[in-house]
Amino acid sequence: MSDPWVITVLVENSVQRAGLQAEHGLAVHLQAGDRAVLFDTGQTGLVLRNAAALGLHWDGLDAIVLSHGHYDHTGGLAAVRAAAPHARRFLHPAALAPKFSRGPDGAGRYIGMPRPAAQALVNDPAVTWTPSPVEVIPGLFLTGAIPRNTGFEDTGGDFFLDPACTRPDPLEDDQALFFDTREGLVILLGCGHSGVINTVEHIRRLTGRRPIHTLLGGLHLLRASAERMRRTLAAFHDWQPRQIAAGHCTGLPALARLWSEFPARCLPCAVGSRLAVPAP
Ligand SMILES: [Zn+2]
Ligand SMILES: [Zn+2]
Repeated sequence: MSDPWVITVLVENSVQRAGLQAEHGLAVHLQAGDRAVLFDTGQTGLVLRNAAALGLHWDGLDAIVLSHGHYDHTGGLAAVRAAAPHARRFLHPAALAPKFSRGPDGAGRYIGMPRPAAQALVNDPAVTWTPSPVEVIPGLFLTGAIPRNTGFEDTGGDFFLDPACTRPDPLEDDQALFFDTREGLVILLGCGHSGVINTVEHIRRLTGRRPIHTLLGGLHLLRASAERMRRTLAAFHDWQPRQIAAGHCTGLPALARLWSEFPARCLPCAVGSRLAVPAP
């Protein structure tokens, strides 16, 4: 029997334990026996300092997975690559595109991957490009691009591919990580720019509609319409996940709704949070 995965939040917007630090971003470490994967890298090299404080080592890291190209998920990539040069890199090709968000003054602000890190990936033989689903290491999968089927979920913000903010960024690079356990699926979202319903339903189609055990990560519901919020909560009632560890860009109003509707199922998603999940 293989070891169960232990999931440790290394970078998130909030922090739960002394000796650790938070930043706007996400990085999650997954370990099962001698297999280890990093999902996103945070905004800076903070991921390394928090890992050191938690006693996590990089020697055996098998893979670095990027959920999408935004700076708060890819900014730590250069630091992690240096610490774990043998880890394979997994990302959708569109993660390398220049990315901008429109500020309140209408001007575009660069929010893509740091350009040197993006440049270093272009001809990197250790990259696996993931336009479609991929098995990262045995039993651990990436969705690749997620079909957008619900009409009411959007990318969650004013995201563009050009500094003049004329070409909307569909965030087609957005993808989720998942694996199955004896009690159902464990799903990790970066920012959930595809929409959490699109994401979860895509994974359920890929896995023969397995139950959902754990949902962790950013749901980007900060600007969700009332209809989107209502239908998202209805989907959670339908899925009945055992553990909901929403954080990062989920937004306080959405977090408050989740925590009040699923008080026994919600868990903190903060730097230092550790989640155990059932064995495969
Ligand atoms: Zn983010
Ligand atoms: Zn994002």
